[in-house]
Amino acid sequence: MDCLFCKIIDKQIPAEIVYEDDLVLAFKDISPQAPFHALVIPKKHIATLNDIAEEDRAVVGHMVIVAGKIANEQGFAEAGYRTVFNCNQDGGQTVYHIHLHVLGGKAMGWPPY
Ligand code: IMP
Repeated sequence: MDCLFCKIIDKQIPAEIVYEDDLVLAFKDISPQAPFHALVIPKKHIATLNDIAEEDRAVVGHMVIVAGKIANEQGFAEAGYRTVFNCNQDGGQTVYHIHLHVLGGKAMGWPPY
């Protein structure tokens, strides 16, 4: 499968890893949109949010827990931060392996644009 994020999981493409366990990997976004910007991805290839199955409940929940751990480690959990899943074209998804954006280190605006 020709998937950029699967290649990062397999260490075929380098990334600045901030967290890894059996289920997920988290690494710095190559084009940060905040002082801190990482992506939490499942090691299982899931293309979009629409492809999440009941059996993926644990890993997707774990992605959210890991996002919180990262926010704590980075020191902005109390100040606040933004997590985002983009889905398909209108959602702004560009890489078709689900990923949870974790953005922090500044006050965010809403709506995003
Ligand atoms: P999306 O637009 O929600 O699909 O987000 C994809 C994200 O992946 C974007 O924020 C990109 O900057 C990021 N990205 C693309 N290629 C790489 C890479 O090789 N390493 C790290 N992040 C990447």
